[in-house]
Amino acid sequence: MAAIIDGKKISQEIKEELKEKVSLLKAQGKTGALAVIQVGADPASSVYVRNKKNACAFIGIESLAYELPEETSEEELLRLIEDLNQDGQVKGILVQLPLPAHICEDNVIKAIRPDKDVDGFHPQSVGALVIGQKGFVSCTPAGIIQLLKRSQIEIAGKRCVVIGRSNIVGKPMSLLMLREHATVTIAHSKTKDLPGLCRSADILIVAIGKPRFIGAEYVKEGAVVIDVGIHRDADNKLCGDVKFEEVEPIASAITPVPGGVGPMTIAMLMNNCVQSIEEG
Ligand code: NAP
Repeated sequence: MAAIIDGKKISQEIKEELKEKVSLLKAQGKTGALAVIQVGADPASSVYVRNKKNACAFIGIESLAYELPEETSEEELLRLIEDLNQDGQVKGILVQLPLPAHICEDNVIKAIRPDKDVDGFHPQSVGALVIGQKGFVSCTPAGIIQLLKRSQIEIAGKRCVVIGRSNIVGKPMSLLMLREHATVTIAHSKTKDLPGLCRSADILIVAIGKPRFIGAEYVKEGAVVIDVGIHRDADNKLCGDVKFEEVEPIASAITPVPGGVGPMTIAMLMNNCVQSIEEG
């Protein structure tokens, strides 16, 4: 039976720690706001935006919401970002993705000043991660490192397989595990013998984006399994990329969905905002 890694509890601990830090920073006169921009009214995005606003309120930082209509042009969005770049009280800028098809995401991400890039998506932030320099780290992978560390799971020297090579999860995840001295392999859709490769992993991190794809045949006895996936199944219930009931008896520790990786993303966004206020 695996230990269940409780992301809900760990994310709450982090937010409580941040709340304390924010009040200490306030006492030193250090404050700041997170600007959250949403273009269009995608219902899933609206939920994420609301959760971010609530998290800001909980830790005690101001959030500024910009809800722009679907037909907003790229130029208009870039102008708003530039205004926020120049605003000294705004310490973090976040543009909720995905954007409508007529707006180029890369242009938007590049327009955010790297010292306000609390999502960690700017090429300068990614470059800093690659060469081990200071910069904001993408929130979901940073949250997974916290889950492992706060569950006393050793990373150094362990074999880690990350399934997925996306810019927001797979690649930064692999780099962070390397930074923590794991021996890392990245798997993707062209990888041969995925089950065999995964069975070599002491720590298996699954960000494949396919519901309940990873079963027992992918997991070594005693491995730690981190499930990044979030999906709604046919019964409208949340599930991950891993077949939890099949894998849990083999693993030594596992994240559930919901309540595993998911809550960590916002906690680490708050962490990045507080870091920005502290440094700004
Ligand atoms: P993505 O951009 O769709 O990337 C999926 C990756 O999986 C790609 O690199 C792809 O390989 C690889 N892949 C697909 N099919 C495969 C197969 N059969 N064998 C091996 N590799 C395969 O997804 P993402 O944005 O990284 O997100 C992954 C999952 O995490 C999604 O379920 C998403 O909803 C979830 N997510 C959760 C959070 C959170 O806060 N918990 C945050 C972000 C994402 P190729 O590169 O070769 O196509």
